[in-house]
Parts: sequence; structure tokens; C-alpha cells
Amino acid sequence: MKTLALDIGATKIAIATVGADHQILERVQVPSNTGESIWPVLKERLQTFKTERIGIASAGPIDRVEGTISPVNIPQWRKFPIVAEIKRIFPTASVGLLGDCTAVALAENRLGAGVGVSNMLGVVVSTGIGGGLVLNGKAFHGETGNAALFGHHSIGFNSEILCDCGRTGCLETFARGPKMVEYARHLGWTGGSDFISLAESARNGDARAIAAIDSGSLALAVGITNVLTILDIHTVVIGGGVSFAGPIYWDPFLKHFAAERLHAGFLDHVDIFPAKLQADAGLIGASIFAHELEG
Ligand SMILES: [Zn+2]
Repeated sequence: MKTLALDIGATKIAIATVGADHQILERVQVPSNTGESIWPVLKERLQTFKTERIGIASAGPIDRVEGTISPVNIPQWRKFPIVAEIKRIFPTASVGLLGDCTAVALAENRLGAGVGVSNMLGVVVSTGIGGGLVLNGKAFHGETGNAALFGHHSIGFNSEILCDCGRTGCLETFARGPKMVEYARHLGWTGGSDFISLAESARNGDARAIAAIDSGSLALAVGITNVLTILDIHTVVIGGGVSFAGPIYWDPFLKHFAAERLHAGFLDHVDIFPAKLQADAGLIGASIFAHELEG
């Protein structure tokens, strides 16, 4: 039986049917950043599918108890009752909801870079920073579904940089792609508009681009070390657009991470892997979760 998987993000909602071997069979998407009502369009799309098993991965915050989602970057949806609405279309289907980064971590654990590991942190570094956990071999959601959303852990309470969430010094304010670009501009860099251009400038030896990436990767190293220190786990899988930049990002990150984690006294050995599944990891994780819900 095919599973219907949804991955709800800041710019688009991906919908896919996924086969028993976790292969994506059919994939469509609906924009989520038009500022207009999303549900009527999404509902129309969903009605063209037939399924008895649905997995929904969503950007956070979510509430797994209530079955609602309030993605930070989709302001139209605050406590949107996605599970109830989907059950109205598919009344007999089982529906599982989980955080998008938890889904990514689960997919990487079952099929990607974290296969065979009982405990791991999955990290997505792109326009935002997200985390998801697999603990004791299972997706760990926390009580509401928002475990490891560590992009909004503050790593600088004396910082003057205000995060979109309202807090100061969040990891995201230093380490997400657009913030590294902003910091490079502050240093006088005049290149393109995104992290891809910044990484290209750094590869060409631009000192300001190199400094901005160094600073962002240090922030991520601090943030990840904090999470590992709380949980005492020793495997990390990192994906997302920024991580695809290659050695220009990974080299400074690994240098900073090696220095940061040593202070813990118990993190001398940490396995750190680039993600394998890339763009469809959220859909695949949602599908795996829907399967595992049924035991
Ligand atoms: Zn924040």
C-alpha cells in the first residue's frame, strides 16, 4: 500500500506518494509563500489521491497533541488543525504528524547517513537551522513535537541581534545562510545575494566572505555541542543547502566543532556525517513515520 507524505515548508508544500521500499512514486507541490489562503489549493490537490496511510512533516512549531501546526514562516497558519482537516478528506486513513527536522533525522537514520545508529541528532542548515532526534532507535518528538528546534537556542544572551522569534542571540541569528550573507555585507563584502555567492567568493579567497562563513560555522559548532552536551549522544548528520557548499563550509565547521566539544570532557569522539538523502528526506521521513505508527 502506498503512503501519502506531505512536507510543509516555508516556501512550498511537497506532496508525494511513497512506495513500500520508500521510493518517491509521484510528487507535486503547492506554494506556501503566496500570502494567500493555502488550504483550499492544498485540499484540491489532496483529493486527487487515494490512501489509507498519511505522514505529515511540518516546519515548527507544531502541536502533536492537538494535531495543529503554526509554522513560523507561514503566518496564515496559526494552530491550523491540519490533522482534522486531512481526516475529513481521508476519514479511514491513519494520520501521523511530526516535525520536519525529526522526519529528516528519521529518514537519515533508516536509509541515509545514520543507518545502524541508535542515537543521533539530525541538523538542517539552510535559510533556517533545524534539528531532529532519533533516540533509542525511535524518532524523539518531545511532548508537543518540537524537540531539538535548536535554531532558537540562544548562544549569545548579550548579543544585540534580535531573532525573528523575538529572542536575542539565537543560533539562527548567526548561523543561518542569510545571516552569514548579512554579516559579510557588514564586513564590506559586496557580492551576490545568497549563501551560494558567498561560498563562491570565499572559494576565490575573499577574506570577508571567509570570515563570515568562519563566524557562522563557529556558531553552529557551539549550538551542536550544546545539544550533544545535554543528551550525551555521539552521532550528528548535517544536511541542508548551506552544508552542500562543501569544504569551504565544512572545513571551518569541523575545526570549530573539534575545539568546542573537547571542553565537554565526554565528546572526544563524535561521528559527524553529511546527509545523504537531500531534498526528499522530509517526505521519506514522513512516510517512514506513518509506517512505524502502525507498528
Ligand atoms: Zn529565535
